Amino acid sequence: MIRLSKPIISEDEINAVNHVLRSGVFVQNEHVQRFEQLLKQFIGSDVLAVSSGTAALHVALSALKIKKGDAVFLPSFTFPATANVVELQHARPVLVDVDEDTYNIDPKKLEKSIEEWQGPEIPKAIIVVHQFGAPCNMTKIREIAKKYGLFLIEDAACALGTTWNGQHAGTFGDIGCFSWHPRKSITTGEGGAVAVKDNMLRKRIELLRNHGLEKSEGKVQLTLPGFNYRLTEFQAVLGKEQLKKFNGWLESRRDLAGYYKKYLKDTADVQLPKEVTGHAWQTYMVVLNENISQQAVIGEMRQKQIETNIGSLSVHLLDYYKTKYKYQDSFFPISRKLSEQGLALPMYPGLDKTDIDYVCSSLKEIISKCKK
Ligand SMILES: *Cc1c(COP(=O)(O)O)cnc(C)c1O
Repeated sequence: MIRLSKPIISEDEINAVNHVLRSGVFVQNEHVQRFEQLLKQFIGSDVLAVSSGTAALHVALSALKIKKGDAVFLPSFTFPATANVVELQHARPVLVDVDEDTYNIDPKKLEKSIEEWQGPEIPKAIIVVHQFGAPCNMTKIREIAKKYGLFLIEDAACALGTTWNGQHAGTFGDIGCFSWHPRKSITTGEGGAVAVKDNMLRKRIELLRNHGLEKSEGKVQLTLPGFNYRLTEFQAVLGKEQLKKFNGWLESRRDLAGYYKKYLKDTADVQLPKEVTGHAWQTYMVVLNENISQQAVIGEMRQKQIETNIGSLSVHLLDYYKTKYKYQDSFFPISRKLSEQGLALPMYPGLDKTDIDYVCSSLKEIISKCKK
């Protein structure tokens, strides 16, 4: 079976984890600090490690005091966690459709949506998602956030190594959120991080991820009620080892994306993702024409021992959101199309080019059999 994605765990990683397990120190300590330093060197901004990408998003909104009565603008085409954390803060998620080429929030539609927002909730923040590692146009997004006085949060869960004008995703807004889930480009099992520049905000996140407890003059104080969103030492050491290899992996992903493009361009009924500068290719998702059945293609590819999948979801089509906010299926048509016609192809460093040849020739062969 050619897998959709595969974490790379070498003996170095296994030995490093072993070492931590034998040490007996398991919770947020020196390895977490060291992992944070390495991440800081890599993306160029202060970083705090947390227990997942969702924890990163939640602690970001909590630190910015997003609450009931606030409206938060975000793309409809995303993993539900992006919207769920807004809901968990009792704020109102406001969905915005995405761009057909990059799969990212459309800045024009974002501005229109803010401009035309009727309330009663008050616009407070924007969450952009660098979907599958494609950079959002952060020049435009930052202008919009500034113009309307909104906090800017980047969901960079899939976007380690992604850059916009040479600057790393996650470092443009108030807070950037990363995930180290096995499906992402480096993994710690579960894990995540926030990038944050402002000192007060960083301090708040440090408290919030650790119950709100801090040590001052040898005494433990509870400053505010917090979560337990700490990363463990054995996760951090895994992250450190993964990060050392990441530049090579990134190059390999870019190489494979170029190879897919070469093979699949001019394939009938298949639209390829746009090659934006700074793309980190966490996922390679093509879009099937409306006359092709996504599920049939996934099934036929499985018959050929190739794992493919949908790319991401449309939040407005999910039961909870659809019911609560009375969304119709026809809202956010591009997001809907990407979720219903998107096909993620195998993509991980070390994927063999002969495997890609097989994936591409199989796709070309079966596609005409999968007409709706
Ligand atoms: C994976 C992902 C998340 C959630 O990250 P976890 O570490 O699984 O909690 C959030 N947003 C996006 C866009 C993701 O792809």
